[in-house]
Amino acid sequence: MNCVFCDIAAGRRQAAIVYEDEQVVAFHDINPQAPVHVLVIPREHIPGPLAIAAPHEALAGHMLVVAGQVAQDLGIATDGYRLVLNQGTLGGQSVFHLHLHLLGGRRMRWPPG
Ligand code: 5GP
Ligand code: ZN
Repeated sequence: MNCVFCDIAAGRRQAAIVYEDEQVVAFHDINPQAPVHVLVIPREHIPGPLAIAAPHEALAGHMLVVAGQVAQDLGIATDGYRLVLNQGTLGGQSVFHLHLHLLGGRRMRWPPG
């Protein structure tokens, strides 16, 4: 299967990795939308938020824990940040491997548009 995030997780594609463990990889987005824009992905290929099922509950929780740790490490935790999961076409999803966006370093707008 052709999946850029599987390639990053497997080390077949270069990425600026900020954290990794046996379950997840976190790396800088190639087209950042904020001064800090990191993606947290599971190593397992899960197509998107809608495909998160009961067996993934611990993994999904771990993605949130890691996002908080990365926010601390990159110095955006105190001022605040945004976590985003895009699902499907209207949700703005363009890569169909689950990824949690961690955005910070500027004031976020609401509604997000
Ligand atoms: P989505 O629109 O699916 O929620 O977000 C996909 C994100 O992946 C986008 O922000 C896009 O810039 C990022 N992205 C796509 N391909 C690559 C890549 O090869 N490397 C990195 N680091 N980010 C990527
Ligand atoms: Zn994948």
